Amino acid sequence: MPLVNEPDRPLRVRMAPSPTGPLHIGTARTSLYNYLTARHGGGTFVLRIEDTDVARSTTEFERDIIEGLHWLGISWDEGPQAAGGDDIGPYGPYRQSQRLDRYAAAAERLLAGGNAYRCYCTPEELDAVRREQEADHEAPRYNGRCRSLSDDERAAFEAEGRQAAIRFVVPPETVVWDDLVRGDVEFDNALLGDFVIVRADGSPLYNFTVVVDDAEMYISHVIRGEDHISNTPKQIALYRALGYELPRFGHIPLILNPDRTKMSKRKTQTGVDEYRAQGYLPEALVNFLAFLGWSPGTEEELFSLRELEERFDLDKVHKGGAVFDKDRLDYLNGVYIRSLTDEQLALALRPYLPDAAVDETVLRLVPLVKERLVRLSDVGELVGFLFADDAEVASWYESEELVPRKGEVVDAASALRAVRDELTRLTDADWAADLLETRCREVAERLGFKAGDLFKPIRVAVTGRSVSPPLFGSMELLGRERSLARMDDALGKLATVGVGG
Ligand code: GLU
Repeated sequence: MPLVNEPDRPLRVRMAPSPTGPLHIGTARTSLYNYLTARHGGGTFVLRIEDTDVARSTTEFERDIIEGLHWLGISWDEGPQAAGGDDIGPYGPYRQSQRLDRYAAAAERLLAGGNAYRCYCTPEELDAVRREQEADHEAPRYNGRCRSLSDDERAAFEAEGRQAAIRFVVPPETVVWDDLVRGDVEFDNALLGDFVIVRADGSPLYNFTVVVDDAEMYISHVIRGEDHISNTPKQIALYRALGYELPRFGHIPLILNPDRTKMSKRKTQTGVDEYRAQGYLPEALVNFLAFLGWSPGTEEELFSLRELEERFDLDKVHKGGAVFDKDRLDYLNGVYIRSLTDEQLALALRPYLPDAAVDETVLRLVPLVKERLVRLSDVGELVGFLFADDAEVASWYESEELVPRKGEVVDAASALRAVRDELTRLTDADWAADLLETRCREVAERLGFKAGDLFKPIRVAVTGRSVSPPLFGSMELLGRERSLARMDDALGKLATVGVGG
């Protein structure tokens, strides 16, 4: 059943990134699933910036995250709309660094109700306990030493100048929740020690702040990565102690490297900005991310964001890990590139071409590359020959590369010379792909060459590469003078290996 607004509980979901790094593929995927859940069910999508880790949070990362999400086409109804900018929405502020008073108030409530206590243990003391537990083969957890201090003991610690952390009293009970993705999940909280919710320096910790915020922002469904599943039983205990209404939880599968280990920077490119810089289109990335853990249950594979909004349903999210298949992303990117009009593609390619490239040239080269581009940035390699000078292009290849597969050096030279002599007769005005091809085929026939064998030396001479966009279109774009000059350069190179000149 798709999630919808209930009469007594509006559908409200959220994304809560920490601005401690650039927008990660996994964060983008979780954001997308939340966005789609909200849009599909007519609910509200909230963005909350979890920046309580002051040492690691920066406005630059916040900007990277917000701009990356915008680039993907993901928008939110509440939260900061721009990095460092104002919030919109009735339950703000939406940056945790601006909500410290709320955490302090919630901590006071827990303390007053006996659901939390001040803990004076020093890091060294905690370490000693941990080592003892390890020696006894026990799971490490807080031993509860400060749980029932007397007023005198407390006063004595304070007199020593110790700063107290605040620990939550974890009820020793089994917590069960009906996960939106995984079904019933059970965890025995008796295995947990009382955990710290506010450090001795007064800074509140994630499991605590996330509960206060999700509750005070009326989040109805917490949809996040499976890596958070072990936090959920702690958070449920906190919801109960604070008297908040519980949300539903849904844990979406991990993203895996191709070798099925958990996705890591070392094996998979994880920064959305890197994909963007390489010329992946946002439409392709969104389509790809949607399928990292979800499928519509049909063979369809191309979905725009709008179509995903209509079709996405958390019910169809898989439990198993989702392998990051780069080939699939490349395939999708090619499909989306080819779905652009020539004008749109010319505009998209602009940043990947030399500044000197005039717009008219860019538009004319689009038909040559459209079928071949996997990423927009590939254009540089494909059409670099148009913007390099003749000497540079000649330096890209060895003279052997001019030789047709089974041919001799002399064949390459005679083929090139014949083609050059033939094409020299064409005027600038005649210098067009169709006519160039006809003339070259005539030469091939006359010399008894297979067309392909003849085209190879021309291609290498003109483009500097043995793989290039369509040859005659490339020559047309390069123009008569430069094409002929490059054939001369190639003949010169063949002459230096002794047989061509
Ligand atoms: N700030 C947390 C993170 O970035 C949020 C986790 C959650 O969604 O609860 O991992």
